[in-house]
Amino acid sequence: MHPTRIQLAADDIPTHWYNIVADLKNPPAPPLGPDGNPVGPEKMLAIFPGTVLEQEMSAERWIPIPDEVRQAYALWRPSPLCRAERLEQMLGTPAKIFYKYEGVSPAGSHKPNSAVPQAYLNKLAGTKRLVTETGAGQWGSSLSLAGQIFGLPVRVYMVKVSYNQKPYRRLMMQTWGGEVIASPSMHTETGRKLLAENPDNAGSLAIAISEAVEEAVSVPGTKYALGSVLNHVLLHQTVIGLEAKKQFEKAGEYPDMIFAPCGGGCNFAGVTFPFLGDAAAGDKRAQKIRYVGVEPASCPTLTKGVYAYDFGDSSGFTPLMKMHTLGHDFMPPGIHAGGLRYHGMSPLVSQLYEEKLIEAVAVPQVATFEAGVMFARAEGIIPAPESAHAIRACIDEALRCKESGEPKTLFFNLSGHGHFDMTAYESYFAGKLEDFAYPEQVIQASIARLPKVG
Ligand SMILES: *Cc1c(COP(=O)(O)O)cnc(C)c1O
Repeated sequence: MHPTRIQLAADDIPTHWYNIVADLKNPPAPPLGPDGNPVGPEKMLAIFPGTVLEQEMSAERWIPIPDEVRQAYALWRPSPLCRAERLEQMLGTPAKIFYKYEGVSPAGSHKPNSAVPQAYLNKLAGTKRLVTETGAGQWGSSLSLAGQIFGLPVRVYMVKVSYNQKPYRRLMMQTWGGEVIASPSMHTETGRKLLAENPDNAGSLAIAISEAVEEAVSVPGTKYALGSVLNHVLLHQTVIGLEAKKQFEKAGEYPDMIFAPCGGGCNFAGVTFPFLGDAAAGDKRAQKIRYVGVEPASCPTLTKGVYAYDFGDSSGFTPLMKMHTLGHDFMPPGIHAGGLRYHGMSPLVSQLYEEKLIEAVAVPQVATFEAGVMFARAEGIIPAPESAHAIRACIDEALRCKESGEPKTLFFNLSGHGHFDMTAYESYFAGKLEDFAYPEQVIQASIARLPKVG
């Protein structure tokens, strides 16, 4: 017997999150208001509590994880690092393939890593209730769970098309006490306006964010929680990479390449930033790692978007952030990886991409599901469609290793399981999945409507 699963003990749950802002070559571009001036804290305090904003704006390298949060993490952390030996054999590659499995959380993905501290920090600041949005339901279910743990009511605006197509995620949220509303809705100005224009509006992540932020700003005691993109969310996710470093050390291995799916960028940041931190501190091995974000060809934010100031939502309620964007009113095609259908990208990940410290690749939908099924048959775990993007890119590299004979060590983040995405698999098996052509004209038109600042 040799271990294929590298486990850590509860004591190995990190005691601090790693903040990459401390190690950036250039300071991050500040969020701007519509007038082009940096947004003051009072504006942000209408949306987020001070406890969260403090982390959002921090440049401290190490931020302590509160005991209450570590205790809640212990429900599923440390997550396992696994060697995908049967996949290696199936591919006939000399490469070693490792993955970190974040599907062991109660919600089935990495998202509770940030939902839990966000609920805790809100409770600490006296927030009475939380409001958020969700696309496929991963974030909404994670925040409903976290709200339940710390006794905070949670309202979730769920993109209407998912609300109708994904009843099980909706029921999961309701089981954990979350109140779920199909977006666009009649609860907000944004929703009422859009429904008056088109009663059949199927919604988008950007619209749902507008509704949630609008409610947070207008209802006292209510704050907003975002599941990706912002600095504090990426910070919370670094528990993934911090554990992975210990696990690689335990296994006597070290990655040559790291892959992660990239939607808003938080699980990618979570797995890569601790290694990038070592690189910044002069670690030669970490400097040699290739860090690869994997996105869908139909929503290619890093590979085809522009690096510019844009809104995080569709209506312009959020501050402007400097990031890779396809334009805030870009409507991505209805692909089956809801978590990757976002027009923007985390400002920190965008900046690292501009500074060429990380890479990105876009993969088509059908080949992504092919990789997901191959992985499930080899390793048993059925991956979330989002995670299957990283698997595709990793398998492509393993096949290149087969050609060249190079025994690289490849590592990807298995960000979640696909148990609530079986209808997507059904479409794949029925041959009904399409490769949406990269919607170049739609993206160019949307980019032309970017706010003019900076
Ligand atoms: C939300 C989600 C993603 C994408 O979000 P990031 O912020 O880019 O991490 C990836 N995988 C799963 C399983 C998700 O739920």
